Amino acid sequence: MTESYESLLHKAYANVGEITEAQDRLVVPEVKGYIEGKTTVFENFSEIASITRRDPDHLMKTMLGELGTAGKIDGNRAIFNGKFEIHLINSLVRNYIDDYVICSECGKPDTRLVKDDRVLLLRCEACGGHRPVRKRRARTEPVSSTPEQGQIIDIEIESLSRRGDGVGKIGRYIVYVAGAKPGQTIKVRITKVAGQVVFTERA
Ligand SMILES: [Zn+2]
Repeated sequence: MTESYESLLHKAYANVGEITEAQDRLVVPEVKGYIEGKTTVFENFSEIASITRRDPDHLMKTMLGELGTAGKIDGNRAIFNGKFEIHLINSLVRNYIDDYVICSECGKPDTRLVKDDRVLLLRCEACGGHRPVRKRRARTEPVSSTPEQGQIIDIEIESLSRRGDGVGKIGRYIVYVAGAKPGQTIKVRITKVAGQVVFTERA
């Protein structure tokens, strides 16, 4: 059966409605950037910072802590010392939004950071929920954006795999450490990198 023009039109408008509604979720563009000499330029930094509605200095400071490097805000751009792949910068932005922007109760971005007895809370204006901001422990070594075979790293074990191996992360990479337990930090040598999966042995 062919649908009438009116019915199609109606559907088209209904879809437009849905898209508008979905926008109270945070729409954050992909990080644009490039490596320039020994630095990494995050080109659309101020655009993304303004979408998160957080203090750009706070976003910058948090990212520098995660990268274990120094850097500066330069106009609309941010510049990090060291070469980092843009997908790593992008995943740090997503982490920041999860930690400091999105309400974990209702998933909306209408939140504010407030200090309560020196504890940083994320307070949600949409649902009234609040939670302490999760603190990521500072990394012991600067994050190298691409783990390489033979490299020795300290890895913090965050969870256990289904097979019982310890699982840690370097940026978007998943690192497996045999016999390791969550909470431990272990020195390992990278034996193989397959896609986003990193295999190791004790160093
Ligand atoms: Zn909420």
